[in-house]
Amino acid sequence: MPTYAYKAVNGDKSCDHCRSGFEIIQRMVEPPLTHCPQCQNPIYRVLFAPTVVVKGSPVTETEKKIREYEKEGKWSHAAELADKEAEKTKREDLRVRALEDYKKAGYNFDKYDKKFE
Ligand SMILES: [Zn+2]
Repeated sequence: MPTYAYKAVNGDKSCDHCRSGFEIIQRMVEPPLTHCPQCQNPIYRVLFAPTVVVKGSPVTETEKKIREYEKEGKWSHAAELADKEAEKTKREDLRVRALEDYKKAGYNFDKYDKKFE
């Protein structure tokens, strides 16, 4: 079974367990953790080994859709979807992806950044 690494989204509010990150063995079909099992603060999955992650990380329907939009060059669609999904799942990788897609769509995201402060 693959090992996944998780880290606190907000280091200031987290406990020792998740602040510096921790690893956990999960089955591939298990959904990613969104909250620290100890302090219940939001965490995200750390993408530390691309080969493992690409194969091991479950691809959701939403992610497939995002990928489709990206392939078709519909950056704003992809960004909005990634953005929504990131909010829902607290996944840092999707948040970064949304930002990149917004950039490609030509958005001015000075405003967008503030949303996450
Ligand atoms: Zn914690």
